[in-house]
Amino acid sequence: MKVLKFGGTSVGTPDRIKHVAGLIRRESRNVVVLSAMSGTTNSLVEISEYLYKGNIPGAQETLNLLEAKYIRVVRELLSTEATRAEAMAAIERTFALIRYFFNDNFNVDGEKEILAQGELMSTALMLAYLREQGVKAVIVPALDYMRTLESGEPDMNYIGATLRRLIDLEPEAELFITQGYICRNAHGGVDNLKRGGSDYTASIIGAVLGCEEIQIWTDIDGMHNNDPRFVEGTRPVSSLHFEEAAELAYFGAKILHPSCVLPAKLHNIPVRLLNTLQPEAPGTLIYNMAPDGSLKAVAAKDNITAIKVKSGRMLLAYGFLHKVFETFENHRTSIDMIATSEVGVTLTIDDDSRLAAIVDDLKRFGTVTVDRDMVIICVVGDLEWHNTGFEARAIGALADIPVRMISYGGSNYNISMLVRKEDKIKALRSLSEHLFN
Ligand code: ADP
Ligand code: ASP
Ligand code: MG
Repeated sequence: MKVLKFGGTSVGTPDRIKHVAGLIRRESRNVVVLSAMSGTTNSLVEISEYLYKGNIPGAQETLNLLEAKYIRVVRELLSTEATRAEAMAAIERTFALIRYFFNDNFNVDGEKEILAQGELMSTALMLAYLREQGVKAVIVPALDYMRTLESGEPDMNYIGATLRRLIDLEPEAELFITQGYICRNAHGGVDNLKRGGSDYTASIIGAVLGCEEIQIWTDIDGMHNNDPRFVEGTRPVSSLHFEEAAELAYFGAKILHPSCVLPAKLHNIPVRLLNTLQPEAPGTLIYNMAPDGSLKAVAAKDNITAIKVKSGRMLLAYGFLHKVFETFENHRTSIDMIATSEVGVTLTIDDDSRLAAIVDDLKRFGTVTVDRDMVIICVVGDLEWHNTGFEARAIGALADIPVRMISYGGSNYNISMLVRKEDKIKALRSLSEHLFN
C-alpha cells in the first residue's frame, strides 16, 4: 500500500481533478490524501479574519465568490445529472454551514470548522468524479481517525488502530480518499495540522500503516537545489537523506511541510516528491541514503531575529549559557541558530511574539542587542567534517554580502548563515553559482 498526497494546485481546477483521478486509479487500494483546491484555504482564512473583526459583509463577499467558483467546478467536473445534483447539494450544505458562523460570537472553534471545509469539499468532488468513472473509491474521513494529543502531537496509536479498522471495513474498495490537514484535537474539536499540513497527514498515514512509500505530488518535479521562486535555472535533486530533507523543509523549502519528514524517518518509509503535471519525471527520493559526499541544495528562512547577549564575566564562568537557554525555554520560544564566543552568545528565533519579555529577562545576565528582519540561508548536503572545501565555498559565495553569523558542525548536514532580508536573493543566487554551476 502507498500514500499519495496531492496538493492544492494538483486539484486546483476541474481538469486537474480529472488528471489526478487518472493517476490514482493506476494502482489499487492506495490511500489518497487531498488538499483543498488552491486558493480555498486562503479564502477561508480571509473570511475568518473578517468575522473576527465583525465585518460580516466582508466575509459574505469573499464567501459568495468562493461559492460561485465551486458551483462552476461541479458543473464542469461532473457529467451525469444525478451525481451533479448530489454534489451540488453537498456544496450548498457546506456553504450553509459556513454561513452559520456569520455572527458576532465568532471564535476559534468556528474558525477551525471553517478552515476544514476546503479539504472536505475537494475530497467530496474527487469521490463524485471517481464514482462517475466507475471507480470503487471510498472516503475515509480524517475527522474520524486523525487525532492530536494535548501536546499537539499526533496520537499515532489511536490513528493507526482506527484507520486500519476503517480500511478493513471496506474490502471491496479500490481506493481510499482522505482529507489532508484536518484533524480533531485532544478535546474532540475540529482542528488542523497548520498551513501546508497535508504533507504531514500523508506522512502520518504512511507511518501508521507501514506503507511501502509516501508520495507527495505537487506542481514541480521534486526538491530543487535552490528556491525556484527566487533563483533561475534550479534543478531537481534526485535523492536526499531524511536529515537533509528535514533541514531543507525546516529552513524554507516550501515543497515539504517541516513536520512531514519525522514520521517517515522514524518508520523508515521512503518519501518521493513527484510532479502532477509531469508524472513520468523521476522527482526526488528521500530515504535513509548512504552519505555521498555531495552538496544538495540551498534554502532560506525569513523573519528571523538575532539576539546577542554579551556577558562581562563569561571568562571561565559556568552556567551562563544555561541561564540564557532557560530564558528561551521559559518563554516557550525555540532557537534556530547559535554562535558563541568567549564573551557572549548570539541566538536566532523565528517566533518573536515573546521578544520583549525575553530581552527583559536576558538583561539580568548581560548586555542585549537585537537585529530584526534577518534571513537564515542554509546550505544542505553531506557535510561530514572530513569532506574538505564545502564550507569555504559556501562562505566564499557570500564574500560581498555582510554575514551576521555562521553555524557549522551542529549536524553533518548543514551550514547556516544569517544575512539581512535585503541580501537574501543575492545570497541565494550567488550560492547557486558557486556551488552548483
Ligand atoms: P502544494 O500546494 O502541492 O503543497 P506547495 O506550494 O506547498 O505545493 O509547494 C510547492 C512549491 O514549493 C513549488 O511550486 C515551489 O515554488 C516551492 N519551493 C520552494 N523551495 C523549493 C525547492 N527547493 N524545490 C522545489 N520547490 C520549492
Ligand atoms: N489546504 C491547507 C493549506 O493551504 C493544507 C495544505 O494544502 O497542505 O495550508
Ligand atoms: Mg504544500
